[in-house]
Amino acid sequence: MRSSIPKATRRHGTKLLSTSLVGLLVGSLAIHAQTTTAKPTNTVSEADRLRGEYGPYRANNDLLYYHLDVRVDPEHQMLSGKNTIRFKMLEPGTRIQLDLVPVFNIDKILLDQPDGATTPLKFERAAGRTVYVDFPEQKKGNVVTIEFYYSGHPVEMGRFGGFVFTKDPMGRPLANTACEEEGASVWWPNKDQWRDEPDTMDISVEAPSTLVEVSNGRFQKKADLGDGFTRWDWHVSYPINNYDVSLNVGTYVHFDDTYTDQYGTLTLDYFVFPEDLDKAKHQFIQVKNMLKAYEHYFGEYPFYRDGYKLVEAMYSGVENQTAITYGNHFENGYLGRPKTGIGTWFDFIIVHESAHEWFGNSITARDRSDMWIHEGWANYCESLFVEYMWGKGDAITYVNTTKRNIGNAKPVICQEGTVCTPPVDQYYKGGLFLNTLRSVIDDDREWFALLHDYYQHFKYQTIMTTDMVAFFNQHTKRNLTPIFNEYLRHAPIPILELKFDPQAHTVAYRWKADEAAFAMPIKVGDKDHWQIITPVTTRWQTMKTPLDTEHFDVATDLYYVNVSKS
Ligand SMILES: [Zn+2]
Repeated sequence: MRSSIPKATRRHGTKLLSTSLVGLLVGSLAIHAQTTTAKPTNTVSEADRLRGEYGPYRANNDLLYYHLDVRVDPEHQMLSGKNTIRFKMLEPGTRIQLDLVPVFNIDKILLDQPDGATTPLKFERAAGRTVYVDFPEQKKGNVVTIEFYYSGHPVEMGRFGGFVFTKDPMGRPLANTACEEEGASVWWPNKDQWRDEPDTMDISVEAPSTLVEVSNGRFQKKADLGDGFTRWDWHVSYPINNYDVSLNVGTYVHFDDTYTDQYGTLTLDYFVFPEDLDKAKHQFIQVKNMLKAYEHYFGEYPFYRDGYKLVEAMYSGVENQTAITYGNHFENGYLGRPKTGIGTWFDFIIVHESAHEWFGNSITARDRSDMWIHEGWANYCESLFVEYMWGKGDAITYVNTTKRNIGNAKPVICQEGTVCTPPVDQYYKGGLFLNTLRSVIDDDREWFALLHDYYQHFKYQTIMTTDMVAFFNQHTKRNLTPIFNEYLRHAPIPILELKFDPQAHTVAYRWKADEAAFAMPIKVGDKDHWQIITPVTTRWQTMKTPLDTEHFDVATDLYYVNVSKS
């Protein structure tokens, strides 16, 4: 998800631009106003603790399957139905923990019996969204299916609204979901954390028959229910993280295309408002270059069986798996920005949100604290797309244009288990960190093999940054841990300190960094003939140089560092 645009942002007019700029400014001010360390545990609310930690009633089970089956009634702004939840007990137990915001009523929760009968279950609502569900003692390995019935009026929450009943630009009813920030339990009952995903999922949505409904996965069938509503059935044949689960109810027209390569034929399905059809047919041509680029670097599009879709929405866009929402006005850049430069050469939403199919949807962070696994990588993917299309020089320029947006006031990784949201730096600093790591490796063949193998190794898994670091260390036979830690677990970036001695024609150098073991190699000196030095934090080293203070360069477009000369 793109995180810098507030939910009030709408798609037309200059207001968009100013609102989004305000959003960015407010975001960075908020970052500067806070301390540079993660919040101590004792300030985490009971609700956030219950939702954030992977407690015993979450850890005792493994999700297998969801069937979300709901009715969306725009006229009454009502959402009702059930989620069928199937899970395997990982240890003996009588209780699991689920989540649903308190604005919804829990109508009943039933246990499915092997003979097809159902039994009502007791449940208990606790702080925030927590719902404990109790059932007769289950042995380790038992597969349990429950049906969680709920109903109510969704309340807009967070930047993108969570679940929003709204109108499209022509005033027709529209409902979209976008809940990466607020969590999927703002609109449907589920195990609302990132660690455990169902292996497959079905989504059934009853919507007014005059409208079209689009969800994740492959369309199965629709049926007119005869009461003014039509039921739409979709099947997700891969694991899916809960915030990706989506529904879109609106006045959509559909067009399609296919993309064929060595991995097979991928269906491309597009759903837009009728008046936008021609613009969409022109703009969405870019999808094929995006697929070519990412498949080149990482391998096959992750969800071939389920296809690729773009669905028009009233906000800029989110990465809902195989059903990415799109609200970028069918223009290059991002909501009218930038006005010039490489960012105007492609449609940001197509390139950024689709990158999340690899990084975010296929590889998912196990905890929100490590969300840069989604956003830093998707940001870096933008520059890889630029590199694939226009070359390395433009890619390096592109990734460096974001420097001015970085606050460096809080670490990129926040406190695990607290549903914290990392700072906006997770995008740009994450991308610049990966660009820096490429320079540390200093061998593009090795770098691109590493990117490819990293994706292939962890695809369809949930991971933490420590898993990524272990993989990079093992495959490069280097200890990159201090470099990862310096950029991701501390707020400031490293400073290369240089002390010149003009008489001796020498320069002394060392790192000023928060990681004592930080010893990153870096290119310095004459930019046409770089020399690689490896400063450390603990002592000064000295090199000969014919260059004076002014002409001694540091490759700051290849390494995200500050330089202090004296
Ligand atoms: Zn994103």
